[in-house]
Amino acid sequence: MTTELRHIDLLIAHGLLVTMDSERRIITDGALAITGDRILDVGKTHELQTRYEPRRTIDASDKVVMPGLINCHVHCTGEPLTKGFVPDDTPFEENVFKWLCPIYAAHEPDDEYVSAMLIAIEMLKTGTTCFLEAGTVRFVDHVVRALTEIGIRARIGRWVWDIPPEPRVYRQTTDEAIRHLEDTLQRFRRQANGRIQAWSMIIGHTTCSDALMRAAKRLADEYEVGLNMHMSPAAMDPEGFLKRTGHRPIEHLASLGVLDRNVVLVHMVHVDENELRLVKQKEAHIVHCPTTALKVAYGVTQIGKFPEMLALGINVALGCDGSNAANSMDMLRATYLAAGLFKDARRDPTVIPAETALEMATVNGARAMLLENEIGSLEAGKKADVVLLDRSRPEWVPLHNVVNSLVYSTDGRSVDTVIVDGDIVVENGRCTRVDEQDIYQRAQRAGQAIVARTGLPRKMKWPVI
Ligand SMILES: [Zn+2]
Repeated sequence: MTTELRHIDLLIAHGLLVTMDSERRIITDGALAITGDRILDVGKTHELQTRYEPRRTIDASDKVVMPGLINCHVHCTGEPLTKGFVPDDTPFEENVFKWLCPIYAAHEPDDEYVSAMLIAIEMLKTGTTCFLEAGTVRFVDHVVRALTEIGIRARIGRWVWDIPPEPRVYRQTTDEAIRHLEDTLQRFRRQANGRIQAWSMIIGHTTCSDALMRAAKRLADEYEVGLNMHMSPAAMDPEGFLKRTGHRPIEHLASLGVLDRNVVLVHMVHVDENELRLVKQKEAHIVHCPTTALKVAYGVTQIGKFPEMLALGINVALGCDGSNAANSMDMLRATYLAAGLFKDARRDPTVIPAETALEMATVNGARAMLLENEIGSLEAGKKADVVLLDRSRPEWVPLHNVVNSLVYSTDGRSVDTVIVDGDIVVENGRCTRVDEQDIYQRAQRAGQAIVARTGLPRKMKWPVI
């Protein structure tokens, strides 16, 4: 008796699968059946080969196959085109107000398109298939166009604030900020087969009035999306809230009714135990950005409470941040830091095991982005967001423990193939949908022009001859 084979679009065969499913199964000689934008089946290659007739097969016998990484904090605009320009020895406030704000203000619409394209190339090529934007500085349409073209998955929004009066170019009243939020949510409800969707995004810190924070939460609920904000990377935020309200930031958010399960709080370094208790109680999500914390000197290893957050059962995801703070968008680098920093800080090798760090970069990220039923693991029924890493490279040899190798030995360089929504968007390490060299040339030209418009000095310490 012959059984009819089901036609599918793609079979990834003979791979070493790190599924991140509920049992965290690692499947040797594993296969993934993909049809349309979904994973249809996951299992041993010889089993799937008896069920499916693929239009195309990828031989993954020298590949590790894993779910796409999820970067929960990325500045698509404002910084990618000036990456590395801001000196690395500026204190937090000088970094933000003297350097970053003028740079953000000097961007023009096409700059934001090139900027989003550039950072999406960097993310895809290092295995990130989905990200949560910090908020587009101004020209959301251009960012959405770039992200739609390149094929990445994202939750985006327009960045709003209503307190600081500078820079003038994007000064907003509370009403204007709320209108911007609503307009963006309205226009980008579900783009590109749901790959791109707007969220309610505020800058956070001490830049938003209570009225704006309440409105942003109300809009997030109304549109059934998340609310995203920065909070407490440095002492400036708790000090500002204590002065204005008499309460610490998270206590104040809770009292406004803004702390909830659809709220993502980014950084959260300068927090106390009561704030963590509130985050846990309200089931909000926290994004740890270790790469940025190190470079901008947040004190994460001295006062950060990320091991305690995880022990409390708070959902902690990982992010990178701006290109003048994290600089690198390689999520495996951030994952390595997440696993390593607190082992050293606490002088305890059992703190944040590699397995936990990998969960932070995948399933926890999916939960924070309210996409836990769609992405974060290789499971039947989920979106086909998949990364294949080349394990014929030296950092993968010999291979004894694939989780240890992923977190401690390798980085985004070994990413070979990336699939988003069932489409192959990176193949043999190259983006399939855009001309990378063209974007790099445009990014260099646009970056130099932006810097020239700000009039900021190029502060290299060594002579350039
Ligand atoms: Zn940020």
